[in-house]
Amino acid sequence: MDDCIIIGGGPAGLTAAIYLSRYHLKIRLFDCGSSRAALIPCTHNHAGYPEGVSGLDLLAAMRAQAEKYGTVREAAKVTALRTVDGGFAAQIGEREVRARSVLLATGVVNHRPPMPDGLHDAALAQGRIRYCPVCDGYEVTDKRVAVYGTGEHAAREALFVRSFTRDVTLIAPDAHDLPPAQQAELDAAGIERIDGPARDWAIEGEELTLSAAGGRFAFDSLYPALGSHIRSELAVQAGARADPSGCLEVDDHQRTSLAGLFAAGDVAKGLDQISHAMGEAGVAATTIRNMLNAEAPLWR
Ligand SMILES: Cc1cc2nc3c(=O)[nH]c(=O)nc-3n(C[C@H](O)[C@H](O)[C@H](O)COP(=O)(O)OP(=O)(O)OC[C@H]3O[C@@H](n4cnc5c(N)ncnc54)[C@H](O)[C@@H]3O)c2cc1C
Repeated sequence: MDDCIIIGGGPAGLTAAIYLSRYHLKIRLFDCGSSRAALIPCTHNHAGYPEGVSGLDLLAAMRAQAEKYGTVREAAKVTALRTVDGGFAAQIGEREVRARSVLLATGVVNHRPPMPDGLHDAALAQGRIRYCPVCDGYEVTDKRVAVYGTGEHAAREALFVRSFTRDVTLIAPDAHDLPPAQQAELDAAGIERIDGPARDWAIEGEELTLSAAGGRFAFDSLYPALGSHIRSELAVQAGARADPSGCLEVDDHQRTSLAGLFAAGDVAKGLDQISHAMGEAGVAATTIRNMLNAEAPLWR
């Protein structure tokens, strides 16, 4: 039986892999290759990179670092997870792999606006579509920005963006139906509302253009605020508790409600950021090491 199976090879899973490998533990990392970090054209808020770094370069450096210390990494999807005597069994295709502990670092998937995939990806690469004002609100300082969504979540996001620029428009996927208090807050911030759905999306020069109620509009950037799918199914299936949104509940050592199962990164409740994912993974890895050591000393 291995010491730990890490599911997910984004910033959280790879950080845990570096720590656990350097603790001389026998680990295995499975990753199906859809890290949100891989979508980042260039992050400017990740400390240590004054000129910014692309998500792909950051992931490649982390993979190289994990492999240097002996991490066994497989490009494969874990399809099921269950508890067994002394630990866990993970299903990968026809194969079953067992370990005394598991770290789930499977992240989330953002819901996309209704536009063709090719156009979406081109707009993302150019910073016309952005997903995270915490990450890159600075880059839209004093620009024309749209937030695509409605309800409390999207209104909060629009108000967050307002501290970077005065030109913020909230576009509903259908029709806005906001409570009066929220409308008043948006009015006070000068945030215009437009009913959707948005259609005829295009990139024209330096602008993202779209049609919605009232005509055609152009923005420097648009933030979809349509929520995310939290990839916590494996943990929930095994018996761990998630909140109503699907985020795994963890304690301050990244332990889920199921003994031996840990979670780090976006899949766990908390700030969805690379730095946070890495910090949580360091905590999880060290707690896993200490838990295994308490069961049987890890002396060399
Ligand atoms: C466009 C964009 C820009 C962003 N910019 C920034 C930024 O500037 N700064 C910042 O701090 N954050 C930024 N973020 C957020 C950041 O990308 C995430 O917070 C970070 O990637 C979370 O890391 P993670 O390891 O938890 O999840 P992820 O990076 O999403 O990795 C999860 C991994 O788990 C794998 N996986 C899932 N299910 C399975 C399974 N069943 N079996 C095997 N593998 C599985 C996936 O393939 C994936 O590789 C941005 C996000 C986006 C989308």
